[in-house]
Amino acid sequence: MFEKVLIANRGEIALRVQRACNEMGIRTVAVHSTADEDAMHVRLADETVCIGPPPAKDSYLNVSAILTAATITNADAIHPGYGFLSENADFAAMVEEHGFTFIGPEPDHIRMMGNKISAKKAVFEVGIPVVPGSDGPVSGDEEALDVAEDIGFPVLIKAAAGGGGKGMIRAGNSQELPDALKMAKGEALAAFGDDEVYIEKFLHGPRHIEVQVLADSFGNVVHLGERDCSLQRRHQKILEEAPSPALNDDQRQRIGRVVVDAIRELGYRSVGTFEFLYQDGEFYFIEMNTRLQVEHPVTEMICGLDLVREMVRIAAGTPLGYGQEDIHLSGHAIECRINAENPETFLPSPGRISDYHSPGGLGVRVDSALYSGYLVPNHYDSLIAKLIVHGANRNECLMRLRRALGEYVIGGLETSIPFHLRLMADPDFVNGDYDIHWLERFMGEA
Ligand code: ADP
Repeated sequence: MFEKVLIANRGEIALRVQRACNEMGIRTVAVHSTADEDAMHVRLADETVCIGPPPAKDSYLNVSAILTAATITNADAIHPGYGFLSENADFAAMVEEHGFTFIGPEPDHIRMMGNKISAKKAVFEVGIPVVPGSDGPVSGDEEALDVAEDIGFPVLIKAAAGGGGKGMIRAGNSQELPDALKMAKGEALAAFGDDEVYIEKFLHGPRHIEVQVLADSFGNVVHLGERDCSLQRRHQKILEEAPSPALNDDQRQRIGRVVVDAIRELGYRSVGTFEFLYQDGEFYFIEMNTRLQVEHPVTEMICGLDLVREMVRIAAGTPLGYGQEDIHLSGHAIECRINAENPETFLPSPGRISDYHSPGGLGVRVDSALYSGYLVPNHYDSLIAKLIVHGANRNECLMRLRRALGEYVIGGLETSIPFHLRLMADPDFVNGDYDIHWLERFMGEA
């Protein structure tokens, strides 16, 4: 097992990884920008290294500074968290070339899944159904029209390098197509430095359902059920739950088995998530995430496994030691993403935390790096806390979530807590009756 792990991240996820390492008896190294000198992940680490100024490109994305930090602290392995360098195949390869272990999948798998066109091809070849669309990249107007007429309008033009809901434009008919193509390419180039786009059928009312897997280096693979992440604003997840209110156990095991077989055939290792759109009883793959996800705690709450611990064990070459028959999903879990933002306009609201009280009690978990007096910097993502609640069933989970949201005090800045409380009172949400377009209608944005 590793003796020392460097965590190449910040905020709640850096703390999350640190906690798992601590419990495994592994020492931790925190890296941080000058804006994060007083951050919780820095305060609680065994060792710390400042890797640059506030902008992420100069610090948390600064590969040479991170590798230098790992060298001078004599770390054995690097955990990338999510975001930043977590899905950068070149970074993963460089980590290994410098003699450290990358706590994640092999660079080739990250690369394959990082391009959504090659990801769709790869999973289709191992038997996974995908959203109908172009076979590869689409560049010209005529080519786009051929594909769109073949699959039928409306269509979605998507960036091959996409992420974070960027570079995705809908075209309702052939007149809208050329402009949509141009816009999607422009957005893709600006966001990812790559204007490669492809076309998919735009699905009218699907749910976003994703399957979590764990795979070791010896061909042992298990799935941990699904998460429903249909509550989205601008293609960004706001609240996630497990299990999905839309699936029964038969459907769950069926899609789980399909994904496990695919993962085994691909020879993939570590945690991974297959994301699907689910409509009229059918699953359509959209992408694979080759990292720990923001919403992983809802899975942990229903399966009782620590996914970070499992990632670390797998990276250290330890076999899983259990099989699918040992995985038991129990109860229901929901995660609310709490952002430092205005609950009406969703504009970011960084600032100093004047007072802080986090909820507690049975079945309540808070993943956050906040404390009273902490200054939330304006350089990074606005996610400041995740409130995760577990109950014996969905109804108990909702009651507990309302109670916990009501207890949560984050003073000094605006947060999305009032928004979540409003959501908890909506009959459609309470009934689990929603799809990926529902939240924008709820917010009056559709
Ligand atoms: P990203 O990597 O940017 O998150 P995804 O491909 O994972 O992009 O899609 C993000 C979200 O966009 C999905 O969860 C879904 O809400 C919406 N979306 C993606 N593809 C389609 C589609 N073909 N039809 C309708 N909505 C889609």
